[in-house]
Amino acid sequence: MKKRDAIRWLGFTTASGMSGLPGRIVRALKRFGAAWGLPDLNTRLSVEFSIRMRRSLGTARVRRSSIRLNQLLKKPENRRLLQETLCHEAAHVAAVLLHGHRVKPHGPQWRQLVAKAGFPARTRIDPKVVGGHVPAPNRQRKRYRYFCPACNRSCYKSVRASHYRCAACLSSGRSGKFIVSLVTEKAAA
Ligand SMILES: [Zn+2]
Ligand SMILES: [Zn+2]
Repeated sequence: MKKRDAIRWLGFTTASGMSGLPGRIVRALKRFGAAWGLPDLNTRLSVEFSIRMRRSLGTARVRRSSIRLNQLLKKPENRRLLQETLCHEAAHVAAVLLHGHRVKPHGPQWRQLVAKAGFPARTRIDPKVVGGHVPAPNRQRKRYRYFCPACNRSCYKSVRASHYRCAACLSSGRSGKFIVSLVTEKAAA
């Protein structure tokens, strides 16, 4: 069912010559193809948006000549990022078309293609610059040190609570009150 010379757009199949976002994708691929000596590049690729993509902006399946893009790239504020991601992924496909399957994913041939298209050959991006990105929950949680000044024992918990008491001191009739302090708080990656 999959047409190779088409952009799949939210379940629709659209021909080239479209306006709007699919049109911008087709035009960008034509531009990259012209820069890379692959004038028919846009007809050899299929592009689709994925709603499940979380940890990357795009992926390329080189053998199928298919590109998947994070749906966040549909947002108007990510217009430039859409172009860069499209270039990044199209360059993976183009590198193989031009140099064969032994080419390394982010190797010199790939970098050269990305540079030729006028983009930085980068493989990571700060999630903060991606419009609409909801950061994944922080893996490194806050840690609080509960220090008992009466017996000098301490323990660590991920929550701050004022009702915790030192069990050893409490059982020997003391208040068991802790001094609580935050020990680690790692910024989101
Ligand atoms: Zn890549
Ligand atoms: Zn104690």
